[in-house]
Amino acid sequence: MQTIDNYKFAGKKAIVRVDFNVPLDENGKITDDTRIRGALPTLKKVLADGGALIIMSHMGKPKGKVNPKMSLKQIVDAVSKALGAPVKFAPDCANASAEAAALKAGEVLMLENLRFYPEEEGKPVGIEKDDPNYDAAKKEMKAKQKEFAKKLASYADCYIMDAFGTAHRSHASTAVIADYFDVDSKMLGYLMEKEVKAVDNVLNNINRPFVAIMGGSKVSTKIGIIENLMTKVDKLILCGGMTYTFAKANGGTVGSSICEEDKLDLALNIQELAKKNNVELVLGSDSVVTNAFDFGSMSLKPGAQVKVCASGAIEDGFEGLDAGPESQKKFADAIKGAKTILWNGPAGVFECDDFTAGSKAIANAIAAATKEGAFSLIGGGDSVACINKFGLADQVSYISTGGGALLEAIEGKTLPGVAAIRDAK
Ligand code: AMP
Repeated sequence: MQTIDNYKFAGKKAIVRVDFNVPLDENGKITDDTRIRGALPTLKKVLADGGALIIMSHMGKPKGKVNPKMSLKQIVDAVSKALGAPVKFAPDCANASAEAAALKAGEVLMLENLRFYPEEEGKPVGIEKDDPNYDAAKKEMKAKQKEFAKKLASYADCYIMDAFGTAHRSHASTAVIADYFDVDSKMLGYLMEKEVKAVDNVLNNINRPFVAIMGGSKVSTKIGIIENLMTKVDKLILCGGMTYTFAKANGGTVGSSICEEDKLDLALNIQELAKKNNVELVLGSDSVVTNAFDFGSMSLKPGAQVKVCASGAIEDGFEGLDAGPESQKKFADAIKGAKTILWNGPAGVFECDDFTAGSKAIANAIAAATKEGAFSLIGGGDSVACINKFGLADQVSYISTGGGALLEAIEGKTLPGVAAIRDAK
């Protein structure tokens, strides 16, 4: 398999799929440039070795149509500044042969938003799945997607996939394009290599004890991951909103807490599965509850009562929004001594300062265990937001840049963006 460290970029053009889907404010200014910074090591490597760069990305969801609000032209200056090199812009990603051909060593060209073309995602437009002509339209679009990918590939001598955030999608630029390069001319970028290694550390190359912490709002969206982790972890902490589905399934009362009534059997199955696999399941025993929370403004309403009670004995009209002090201690104790840690999903409504304590207890325990030599992987938008909010980002081993991609990888699914390079013959 080719690697970015072995490939000779001198005099070559590299087309690099990055994830520059950065958030912009109403004036088109970047509000968080993490994704641009994440791609820099790969981009700089190509330039330093005497190659030319063709950068491609999507931004937002333009659904196959040109939308100036999602134009990558808005970020050209920021990318240029971050790279320390001028960046040319090709306003039509599917017709950039002339601009690409004119590129010299050390020069950079950025293509316009790939998703201005429906071919990028390869989904037929303007036709519903139940339409009798859907399959034919899909086939036609897949053929067009190949042509689009072939065109992108024609701009360059080699292909680098470095967009972990979209690696779970089989799009023209993330996977299909790889078919048009021979095995020695396609490779993963540094960011992808780091992400893949981090996932490998928690799925295959495990140092024990391995403690996973799954939180967030619902058990139903995490079930694939929970099931896959059952055969791998030593301890599994389940927290956040899913606490109440478990509490109810075990005969408790949960007031108006978030609870998936149709998933009570699932909760009991998970408990059984844990027993069968010898996994210590850690559930929150107490909760911080309130009778007046506004999810719109993410704040308590005036006059709200806030108190601590058992997670399975919540009065009518009250809802559990955070782990209580006893649960916090239970979670911290379970994390102590771990050698591998995975955290996805907060333990409470951490967006509101009144309900951050559970997530904070977890984050602090992870930082302490990391200091003692554990490998800790934090993934999924909200747990990353938690770690950043608590100022602990530099005290964990790895923070994943991929939301959906990371979750699918941990579920044990093969990511098309990785397979396109790794499984290439
Ligand atoms: P998820 O997208 O499933 O990872 O869920 C993240 C969201 O779960 C965050 O926005 C939290 O505010 C929310 N959350 C965590 N704990 C609770 C809870 N006890 N009740 C309601 N929402 C919660």
